[in-house]
Amino acid sequence: MELDGKVCVVTGGSRGIGRSICIEMAKAGAAVAVNYFSNQKAAEDVVSEIESLGRPAQAFKADIADFSQVQQMMDEIYKKFGRIDILVNNAGIAKDMLLLKMSEKDWGDVIATNLTGIYNATKNVVRYMIKQRQGRIINISSIVGIYGNAGQANYAAAKAGIIGFTKALAKELGSRRITVNAIAPGFIKTDMTSSIIEKSREIEEKIPIKRLGTPEDVAYMAVFLASPRAEYITGQIIAIDGGFTL
Ligand code: NAP
Repeated sequence: MELDGKVCVVTGGSRGIGRSICIEMAKAGAAVAVNYFSNQKAAEDVVSEIESLGRPAQAFKADIADFSQVQQMMDEIYKKFGRIDILVNNAGIAKDMLLLKMSEKDWGDVIATNLTGIYNATKNVVRYMIKQRQGRIINISSIVGIYGNAGQANYAAAKAGIIGFTKALAKELGSRRITVNAIAPGFIKTDMTSSIIEKSREIEEKIPIKRLGTPEDVAYMAVFLASPRAEYITGQIIAIDGGFTL
């Protein structure tokens, strides 16, 4: 098992892409800390599924946008598992609106969760990784952070911010044997995209691979980036979009 003995933290691990990343990390051998915000039942279901695979797991509630909650959670995770090797910054929300109608709250909430949340989680994990002289940080950005999208100025700004953060930190932490990469998913079938599913035929036509992505399509890349085979990959932004942005 490639990730045997490793401890992985997944923010927003209760649903969608995060859920799938938790399960695939466990299948590869890792113990998993499943962060969630409000869906305790969903997070506990992920924990049970991981335990049925014979791997340790625990759910941890914290609002990723709140620095002190995240600090307390990471300290609890370290105390429980004794190390943190992999951090997947996945938690995210969307509050789509054309700029003229976008409230300060819709702007602020998306930046706080999707961008500041990544600072909060990474800042509170990196000292453990430095102590261990190794670590993997995997940030979930979006193709919208590279190409933009009308009606998503807040989301696109946060996702583009993640790309800058990823590249800066890759340079900062490379000598510590910590790699930092981002995944930029395209259209993935989750609760977040449920409203576009009725238009899915139209979207699928524009995707060379002719289907929407699944959470597993993203999770497989996260596991690879966490594995020893990805040791020499850092600062990269990898699109998982079926060729949509070609
Ligand atoms: P999702 O199904 O809506 O799940 C979102 C997850 O984030 C849930 O586990 C949720 O926890 C958690 N979360 C939300 N706010 C949080 C907070 N303040 N603190 C901690 N956790 C929080 O979304 P998804 O589609 O899987 O998206 C996952 C990531 O991929 C996001 O960063 C998203 O921007 C990105 N992404 C998605 C797509 C797509 O097509 N789906 C495309 C590109 C990028 P609760 O269950 O407790 O609410």
